[in-house]
Amino acid sequence: MRLIPLEIGRLASSLTLTSPTWTDDRRVDVTLPIPAWLIEHPEGVALFDTGLHRDLRHSTDRLGQWTARHFHPDFQSHEELTARLEARGYRPSDIDLIIFSHLHFDHCGGTAEIPDARIVVQSDEWAAGKDEKLIANEVYNPADYNLGHEVQQVDGSHDVFGDGSVVCVPTPGHTRGHQSLRLELDSGPVVLTGDCVYFEQLLDEMITPRMGSERSRERQLESMRELARLRDEDGCRLIFGHDEDQFRSLPADGLT
Ligand SMILES: [Zn+2]
Repeated sequence: MRLIPLEIGRLASSLTLTSPTWTDDRRVDVTLPIPAWLIEHPEGVALFDTGLHRDLRHSTDRLGQWTARHFHPDFQSHEELTARLEARGYRPSDIDLIIFSHLHFDHCGGTAEIPDARIVVQSDEWAAGKDEKLIANEVYNPADYNLGHEVQQVDGSHDVFGDGSVVCVPTPGHTRGHQSLRLELDSGPVVLTGDCVYFEQLLDEMITPRMGSERSRERQLESMRELARLRDEDGCRLIFGHDEDQFRSLPADGLT
């Protein structure tokens, strides 16, 4: 099995970070790499998330006003999902599965480019993605993911290929049905954290970006503690959702 990072552009943003141990929030300017993860497994080819929608190269119209004000795409044509896959020798129709960490625009924008894959998503997330209020508040845009794919909704831990090598690990909080993905590589277990942890420092200091309710933040902190446990007790290597330094350090031909 091989895990290959594909960079589907970047987003520049200013994050408001909050911590149980701070008295005030802090703002940081960040450049977030937007990954899609290609998983070559003997039983099939999967993507974990699909990155940005290709229209965002030219226009932020599809984002909604608040989101467009806070996230600024930097996205070249050779970084579109289809181009990244072609550079690896894949056509879009070669992709069997799309596993979603969650349904925010920077994680499912490329889905329209992969029409034949089956989607694997937590049922809580799929339900949240149909919530009219969340759609009106620009949290979700069904045009990114509600495109007629076959959808496999799962609840809790889910063994994707039935051999224990790729397992969905629920990590709710960032969104209602957020999940991470554990892979048993020859080099050892790896967990793609998704947006449960944007970058390493946040886990070390139990910091979260300020968004959502107190309850969702407490749930995210619980999920972060579970990821720390997988690292410290199970020896999992954590690969964070938008960690620029870590992302640049990964080998271009992937991890095995
Ligand atoms: Zn994200």
